[in-house]
Amino acid sequence: MEKVLVLLHTVDGQLPPAALETLSLAQRLGGESDLAVLGAGAAAAAQQASGGAAKCFAVEGEEFAFSRCATDAAACEALIRASGAPLVLAPDTLRFHRALPGVAERLGAAIDTHVTSFSADGAAGRWYYRQRIEASFRRGQRPWILLIEPGSQPAAAPQAGAAPELLGVACETRTRVEGFSTPMAGEQTIRPDAPLLLVAGAGWTKKQKDGAVHVEEAGELILDFVRRTQCSLGSSKSLVDLSGEGQAVLPFLTHLHQVGQTGSSPRHKKGLATCCHGEEPHVVGWRFIAERRAINLDPNCGWVRGKADVVYVADAFEVMRELQKLL
Ligand SMILES: Cc1cc2nc3c(=O)[nH]c(=O)nc-3n(C[C@H](O)[C@H](O)[C@H](O)COP(=O)(O)OP(=O)(O)OC[C@H]3O[C@@H](n4cnc5c(N)ncnc54)[C@H](O)[C@@H]3O)c2cc1C
Repeated sequence: MEKVLVLLHTVDGQLPPAALETLSLAQRLGGESDLAVLGAGAAAAAQQASGGAAKCFAVEGEEFAFSRCATDAAACEALIRASGAPLVLAPDTLRFHRALPGVAERLGAAIDTHVTSFSADGAAGRWYYRQRIEASFRRGQRPWILLIEPGSQPAAAPQAGAAPELLGVACETRTRVEGFSTPMAGEQTIRPDAPLLLVAGAGWTKKQKDGAVHVEEAGELILDFVRRTQCSLGSSKSLVDLSGEGQAVLPFLTHLHQVGQTGSSPRHKKGLATCCHGEEPHVVGWRFIAERRAINLDPNCGWVRGKADVVYVADAFEVMRELQKLL
């Protein structure tokens, strides 16, 4: 087994779940490994997880507290060079997804994104064609950087160990981080780490059995459920597209919520689809959702044809009102 560098970054001074998942994959490989951590509070976070690591490195400081391609790339390059390990496992977070391809170029390394498995014999796995084909592959080029797909591994319980060696990294940048703004004007409803995904379909905005639409109530029921359960919210394409057609819409949904062939393929343990038909281009995004349930008025909807574990043939308004009482 070749030596591995586990390259992580902090979020708010802590190792995020995606980092602990990458760490657990490296631990299961069983070979020699180094640990390197970047970001605010990196040294403390690295020490809390460095048990079992041969060498441990960190880069921190004001310049490296935020996700910024130039500084992240400079820091990651220094960390990878300091370790010298031929294999680098890093979580496929937005921060590393942006910075590490450029680092690979500088190091003459190979890089693969969305990696879902890696074994001690050097075989990596990932999905292609919108999660339709699973491939297993090896590479001879070293260093080889593998970005591990969040949600694809169990999380490790980190063991504390030696303090890291702090690397000083100099990087000139013209980009100043002034803060963050989010396209969602309201509250956060996409939570990749939540155990449950609630998906809203276009049915919520359609005429109901009284002949009227009830978009306002639909919005309240959905948001109330999301707030109470702290689940993540997803949507079908039809529902997020409706706004472009000037129809009644749920204002808190954006294209970032879209699940499916042309949307995301999230990895929540459970999923509940409401007022969504369960068509193939949507359900292809449910590939990694382990337990699937759906509420639909139509006993012949797509979910019934083997795409869900449980289908409640029922009015989602009524079911969600009952759930609201129970919660
Ligand atoms: C190339 C391509 C890519 C695509 N990519 C995606 C994608 O990534 N994601 C995606 O979602 N779609 C995608 N689509 C579109 C997809 O085929 C469907 O058109 C879309 O998913 C349908 O959305 P929906 O089920 O919300 O709406 P509809 O098909 O309108 O279904 C609404 C459902 O709500 C039910 N309903 C209505 N009222 C109630 C109620 N009170 N209680 C319970 N149920 C109720 C109805 O019975 C109906 O089944 C793609 C299509 C193409 C051609």
